[in-house]
Order: sequence, then structure tokens, then C-alpha cells
Amino acid sequence: MQVAPVERFRAIRLRKDETGATLADVATLGDDELPPGNVVVRIAYSTLNYKDALAITGQSPVVRKFPMVPGIDFAGTVEHSADARYQPGDRVLLNGWGVGETHWGGLAQRACARADWLVPLPPTMSPRMAMCIGTAGYTAMLSVMALEARGIGPEAGVILVTGANGGVGTVAIALLSRLGYSVTASTGRLEEAPRLKELGATCVMDRRGLSEPGKPLQKESWAGAVDCVGSHTLANVLAGIRYGGAVAACGLAQGMELPASVAPFILRGVALEGVDSVHASFERRMVAWTRLSHELPGDVIEGNTREIGLAQALEVAPELLRGEVRGRVVVDVNR
Ligand code: NDP
Repeated sequence: MQVAPVERFRAIRLRKDETGATLADVATLGDDELPPGNVVVRIAYSTLNYKDALAITGQSPVVRKFPMVPGIDFAGTVEHSADARYQPGDRVLLNGWGVGETHWGGLAQRACARADWLVPLPPTMSPRMAMCIGTAGYTAMLSVMALEARGIGPEAGVILVTGANGGVGTVAIALLSRLGYSVTASTGRLEEAPRLKELGATCVMDRRGLSEPGKPLQKESWAGAVDCVGSHTLANVLAGIRYGGAVAACGLAQGMELPASVAPFILRGVALEGVDSVHASFERRMVAWTRLSHELPGDVIEGNTREIGLAQALEVAPELLRGEVRGRVVVDVNR
């Protein structure tokens, strides 16, 4: 019997040294080392998300198993499938499910995943475009859907987006403005205000106005918010939401704590909607990705994206954590 040769591929590899520090390098690995799964994907593009930067730098215990290939998302083409839903040549994408944390992820030329985790690429979307949007953009869409589910439409009033220059923030601004919402962007980088306005923000505010402890109820300024920041910022955002409004909370760039009071909930009927992208159902993912393929113009997404090669992900990760990256970072894993 002829045995198929083992495919070799390049990947970012994370290991721990004897002191517990994370070591990150680019390694050549073999298909025979891939984790279990029923679909092998040849990856075209991945991205660098906040969580990937935490994993690569070892700044937070995101990775639960070593050695690990980071990368919480990828898009590419099915090479082998033992699941009837996917055939070789099918174009797929993946976000979350612990990929890049407990199961080898997308910062590699190949991945082996469970068919249940995959989403077929929308017909009009290229693998590159899918990753220009990436987990951050898909989370922005889930956040918009959470506000819509609370009945917050464009006529309700202004929507605040915090962490505006980040991956989630920039796509949330672009999406909301194209859906007809009026958007205020909160940022620590006011010099980027012109770019935020190009994306669709009507107003840009200094994030320092939200980042310190504030009163439990404040002027009713916004009908809703997409919050990427957490901590005092989220507490102040809740305190400034209009009667009956809602906040989609998806991030913790300032911190995980929520030093808030119940006043906005019990006196103004404000709703706090949690947004989780990792374990969202297949149906929800399909809705989000289909909408992303229709509702985001390609040139807007291109203009919001920086492309890097695989090894560069190691250099850009600390920049991202220092808040120096604007918009999305897409990774061409084959260069
Ligand atoms: P980015 O690093 O791209 O953006 C985060 C932005 O937050 C920065 O660009 C900056 O915006 C702002 N920021 C950074 N540090 C602080 C701070 N100390 N105080 C206030 N604002 C700060 O990350 P992403 O956009 O990819 O992700 C945003 C958050 O959402 C992260 O916490 C991430 O973990 C989370 N996330 C959650 C998901 C989920 O499933 N719930 C999925 C994806 C992401 P500016 O310079 O404009 O102020």
C-alpha cells in the first residue's frame, strides 16, 4: 500500500519555557501533528485579533494547552473532509470555538477542525475579505443584531461606539452608519477623527470623558451603545443611555470589572446585552456573515485593513496590545 506523504506547513507555534514564559516562533509542522477533527482546511488568510495578541505575547492566560498554534479565525479551502456537509474545494471560514486557545488555530497554512465549527463562505465573499472583517467584524455584527433585537433602530437616536479605532469599533461604526444610524465614536486617538468620520461616525469624543469613575445616572445622551472597553467606561456608558435604550457589551479593553450601579436598569429600563462570538450558534453565524457580505462595502473594509505576512504577526501583536493598531490586521499565512 502506498502511504501518502505527510504535508508540511508553516505555523506560528507557542510554547512555554521552564520559567513559564511564552515562546513564540514560526515553525514547520506536519499534518500528522494536527489536532483531531474531521475537516482539513488549506488556510488562505487569518487575522490578528486582541485575543491572538494576548496569546502570542503571553500577557493573559488565553492559551490553555501547549504547544499551540494561535489564531482564533481563518478562511480557506477544504482539502479533506470526513463530514458530508463539506467537500474538497469548498470555501469555509471559522471563528472561535476555542480555536487558537485549546485547539490549533488559524495562524498557519493548514488547520484541522470540526465540521460543526465551520461556516460556508458567503458566495460573494473572498477568503481575504472574510478575514479583513474577521472575528472583530463578526462581533461588531452580533453587537448590532443585539441592539436591533432590543428594538433600537436608526430612528431611536445616537449610538455610541467605544474603542472606536479598534477592529470591533471600526467595523461597528461602518455597519451602523450604513444601516442609517447616527454614530458617536469614543476614542483615545483624537488624531484619527477624520478616519473615523470617513468610516461613518458623525461625532467623535475623547474617551477620557468615560474612563474615570462617574455618577450612576448622567445626562441621557445615547439611544444605544456598542462597548468594546468594559470597566468604568461601560459604567459611564450605561449611566448616559436614554430611557429604554440598550448597550451591547462585547469587550474589555479597559478592564473586566464593571463598577456600575443598578440605577440605569431600574430607573431608565436600560438593557445590557452580552455579546459572545465564540459559542454563537451556527444559525446566528450564518445570519451575521450573510449580512456582513451584503451590508459592508468592500472598499470600506479594504481601507480599514493592514495586511501582514505570517512571521510579522509576532511583531504586530505587542503593537496591538499597546493600542497602536488602527482597524483590522489581516494575515496572509502563505507569505
Ligand atoms: P483592538 O485592540 O483592535 O481595539 C481595542 C480598542 O479599545 C483600541 O483600539 C482602543 O481604541 C481602545 N482601548 C484600548 N485600551 C483602552 C483602555 N485602556 N481604555 C479605553 N479604551 C481602550 O481590539 P478589538 O477591537 O479586536 O476587540 C475589542 C474588545 O472586544 C477586546 O477586549 C476583545 O477581547 C473583545 N472581543 C470580544 C469578542 C466577544 O466574543 N465578545 C470577540 C472579539 C473581541 P481607541 O484608540 O479608539 O481608544
